[in-house]
Amino acid sequence: MSDDLSFILNHLGEDREAGFRAVVPPVVQSGNFTYPTVEALRNAMRNEFDVPLYTRGANPTVAMVRKKLAALEHAEDALLFGSGSAAIAAGVLSFVKAGDHIVCVRKPYGWTTKLLNELLDRFGVSHTFVDGIDAENFRRAITPRTRLFILESPNSITFELQDLQAVAAIAREHGILTLCDNSYSSPLFQNPIDLGIDLVAHSGTKYLNGHSDVVCGVLAGNREHIHQVMAKEFMTLGAIPSPHDAWLLMRGLRTLEIRMHRSADSAEQVAKFLEAHPKVVQVNWPFLDSFPQQALARRQMKRCAGLMSIRVKAADVAGVERFCNALKRFLMAVSWGGYESLLFPTAATMDPRNPQGELPWDLVRIYVGLEEPQLLIADLEQALARV
Ligand SMILES: *Cc1c(COP(=O)(O)O)cnc(C)c1O
Repeated sequence: MSDDLSFILNHLGEDREAGFRAVVPPVVQSGNFTYPTVEALRNAMRNEFDVPLYTRGANPTVAMVRKKLAALEHAEDALLFGSGSAAIAAGVLSFVKAGDHIVCVRKPYGWTTKLLNELLDRFGVSHTFVDGIDAENFRRAITPRTRLFILESPNSITFELQDLQAVAAIAREHGILTLCDNSYSSPLFQNPIDLGIDLVAHSGTKYLNGHSDVVCGVLAGNREHIHQVMAKEFMTLGAIPSPHDAWLLMRGLRTLEIRMHRSADSAEQVAKFLEAHPKVVQVNWPFLDSFPQQALARRQMKRCAGLMSIRVKAADVAGVERFCNALKRFLMAVSWGGYESLLFPTAATMDPRNPQGELPWDLVRIYVGLEEPQLLIADLEQALARV
């Protein structure tokens, strides 16, 4: 398996004969492609999705990365988008029409929530958010018009999981399609398709690229589903990455295996340190013994990645702010999955005098990157003293 993985990351899809025998495939930074005869152009137009004609459809650099991404997710095919949100939106839009209904796990990624609440609502597609901790909640929310279940396991702030196999089985019984956001685990630590899920989405911005220098997204699935998305939403919405971004993503993938294990190893140390600290009320990280769904996490995920959240034992928002402002080795920023460790306090989304929201004001999300874990722990220790 590990041999397969290194082959995918380092060789699959790369045609060195077609790239001057360069070790690193060149970036084909071209918008269009020329053909010598009308006959050849006609053939290219008939196979617009498979041969390079125009880069919105097919580009050789993007094509290489698509092959790797599909193989990583044990899927037949995959599309690369200009962002994770574009991948999710195209995947959802492709399989619903006016009058249809979607069941979505509660508290998914913010822009997935907005897609349902603010975009699909306007086009007559309704939805129900359910507590995904009990798979049966998906069954209970089914209506005769339900076409799609949207999952995100775990989510990227409180890390609640769904039992992917159980939810996929319920969906199949009712002829409902399933789409799972797998950004947290990356294809290395979880493969939803092996558990019966139909479509897998990623923010490639996070672990897949891993260097905080590209925003991109992935949708993987069987040939028929991916072809449908490509022929409609992918081509009409046109949310593509540039060939150069695809090339950077390919470079990021070279080290995916090494980065993921480093981030996971360090996260385990950091999570255990935080759990034992008197200024920390709670640590949300799925592989901790104290995590309510730990057994499910260990069953369906190979390892647990580097993102976690904590509740700080602070009297007020000012205490949380003192902790965050004192951290020196964690950058304060949104996103995660890069080389650099990050923190993001939910208090940043609230009025400090009236800290109200869906999430508690004392919650701080922490991403453990590739730095030396003992230095990260020492930094957290000194900052927790300021709470
Ligand atoms: C970042 C993220 C997204 C959105 O991806 P973009 O590349 O930022 O558009 C979707 N889901 C999860 C879980 C994310 O963390």
